[in-house]
Amino acid sequence: MANDNLSAVLYAKNDLRMENRLIPEPGPNEVLLHMSCVGICGSDVSYLKRGAIGDFIVKAPMVLGHESSGVVAKCGSNVKNLKPGDRVAIEPGVPCRMCNFCKSGKYNLCPDVVFCATPPYDGSLCRYYKHAADFCFKLPDHVSLEEGAILEPLSVGVHACRRAGVTMGSNVLVLGAGPIGLVSLLTAKAMGASQICVTEMFTLHHVSKWFWKKRATGNSHTS
Ligand SMILES: [Zn+2]
Ligand SMILES: [Zn+2]
Repeated sequence: MANDNLSAVLYAKNDLRMENRLIPEPGPNEVLLHMSCVGICGSDVSYLKRGAIGDFIVKAPMVLGHESSGVVAKCGSNVKNLKPGDRVAIEPGVPCRMCNFCKSGKYNLCPDVVFCATPPYDGSLCRYYKHAADFCFKLPDHVSLEEGAILEPLSVGVHACRRAGVTMGSNVLVLGAGPIGLVSLLTAKAMGASQICVTEMFTLHHVSKWFWKKRATGNSHTS
């Protein structure tokens, strides 16, 4: 096991530093993960560019990243669901497991959720990261670690399509073709939607600007 823990630490707006941190020791119900893949979420970009998202303000150094997968390096003493070497996807929001929301299965609404890379909690864009063992999901052999890291944003699309009641033959409108719009599109297709329309003004705007600039300078490849 390497003994460095290079981590992407955000100190404040536009102040991201690569820092060697101590390798954390997992608690009894946690696992230590050797991180494999970490997606860059819009929220990470927002913390970097603005130092905040709404009421969540970066006030102390924080490791970024939460869309991630890794390999179990060490298990806490109570952990029974995982063993070293297991490849896992991480569910980044760990709830209290005690409140009414948690007890009724709506644990995404838990007011005490500890969410990776949401101040003041560190994220997973580092070499070694510890996480609650029951919020790590073992990947089947045919699912890559890259795919494992994308499960968190994909779950947003699954949740959105379930909320919208998408089923065989549905007509679906997705507003926005960013990563979440695209995973919603994939999910709607997988759930049997027959027609899916996606709107996106940002890309269209930029594409048309690029197109007209090329036309104006006379080197467009497009006819
Ligand atoms: Zn995200
Ligand atoms: Zn709770």
